[in-house]
Amino acid sequence: MTDDSEERIETRAIHAGQDPDEETGALMTPIFANSTYVQDGPGDHRGYEYSRTGNPTRTDLEANIASLEGGEYGRAFSSGMGSINTVLNLLEAGDHVVTGDDVYGGTHRIFTQVYEDYDLEFDFVDTTDHDAVEEAMGEETELLWVETPTNPLMRVNDIEALADVAHEYDALCAVDNTFATPYLQRPLDLGADIVSHSLTKYLGGHSDVVGGALVTNDEELDERLGFYQNSVGATPSPFDCFLVLRGTKTLPVRMDRHCDNARELAQWLEDHDAVDRVYYPGLESHPQHDVAEKQMDDFGGMLSFELDGTLEEASTLVSETEVFTLAESLGGVESLIEQPAAMTHAAIPREERVAAGLSDGLVRVSVGVEHVDDLKADLERAFEAAL
Ligand SMILES: *Cc1c(COP(=O)(O)O)cnc(C)c1O
Repeated sequence: MTDDSEERIETRAIHAGQDPDEETGALMTPIFANSTYVQDGPGDHRGYEYSRTGNPTRTDLEANIASLEGGEYGRAFSSGMGSINTVLNLLEAGDHVVTGDDVYGGTHRIFTQVYEDYDLEFDFVDTTDHDAVEEAMGEETELLWVETPTNPLMRVNDIEALADVAHEYDALCAVDNTFATPYLQRPLDLGADIVSHSLTKYLGGHSDVVGGALVTNDEELDERLGFYQNSVGATPSPFDCFLVLRGTKTLPVRMDRHCDNARELAQWLEDHDAVDRVYYPGLESHPQHDVAEKQMDDFGGMLSFELDGTLEEASTLVSETEVFTLAESLGGVESLIEQPAAMTHAAIPREERVAAGLSDGLVRVSVGVEHVDDLKADLERAFEAAL
C-alpha cells in the first residue's frame, strides 16, 4: 500500500487501507465471509489463518481508521465496549485508573461493575480540573481515560494537558474520540497513547452497525492490544467491517453538515425564550470554548439544552418532534432527540443527577444532516406543544 500520510483526510477517508482487488479489479473491499483460509503447507499461510485472528475486510477497515487518526496501528472490535474492554485488559489487579466523572454510561458500568471485581481501582474526577486529576493520580495509576466532548453536557477536556499529566505518572492516556471523530480532533497528535472509538456512531454514520476501534502509534502496545483482541474475541464480522468502511468514506462531508447544522441550531436555541441554556462547544458561552477551539477543527454535531420547564414538559417536547426521532445513540445522518433524565441517565438517582448538572428539563440532540430549517421548524412546533 502506498504511504498516504501526506494526503488530506478527505482523500484518506475514501482511499486509505483500500486498494482495488489485485485479481478481479473489484474497486470496493469485498466482504470476505470466511472463517478459515487455505494453507500451502502446515503453517505456510498467505497472511490469514482464522478470521477471529485476522480477516481481509477487517484489515482494510483497521488501516482506514488508523490513517484517519494519524496513527500507525488500528484494531477493530465488535462494539465500542469491546474496544474499551481491550484497553482494560492491559491492566492488572491492583492497578488504578483515573477518569472523568461524566464518562459514557457504558464506560462507567464496565469500570465499576466489571473491573472493580477484578481489583482494578477507579477514581472519577472532573477532568476539566487538572489539579483534581493530579490529586487523583498516584504510583499505581496506569491509565488516564479521557472523553471529550462529554455526554450530555459537552464538557471539553484538554487532551494535550491531560496526556502530559498521565505521562508524568508513567500512565497511559487513552482518549475516547467517539463524539469528535478524527475529522475534528486527533488525540494521538496531542500526545494520547491510545484512541478509542465506538464505530457505531459517526464513523459508521448510518445507524445500521455496531462496532469499535483502537488506534495507537506504539508497536508494542498494538501487539498487546492485538493479543487481547484475538484472545478475548470481540471481533467484528466482515459484513460489519464493510458497513463501517462504507461509512468512513463520507465522514468528512457528513461532519461538515453535522457541524454547520449544530452550530446554527445552537445559536437559534440560545436566543429562544423556551430555552434556559445551551451546551455546545462552538458557542462563546461554553465554559471550555477556548480549549475546543485549540484542539478541534470544528465543534461537532452533538448539543444539549435546558428547556425552561419540568420533566414532564421535556418529555412532551421529545415525544412531539417528527423530524427528530426519539431515540438513544447518536452520530447517524438522521437527527435524534432524547431526555437524559428519563433515558440515558435515568439510572442515576435524581439528587445526584441534578447535582451533576443534568436537570429534569435537559434535552440532548444528535443533529443530523437534514435541512436545518426543517429541524428548527420541528423543534418550534414541539416547544409549542410542550409549554
Ligand atoms: C456509544 C459509545 C460507546 C460504546 O460504544 P458501543 O458501540 O455502543 O459499544 C463508548 N463511548 C462513547 C462516547 C459512546 O458514545
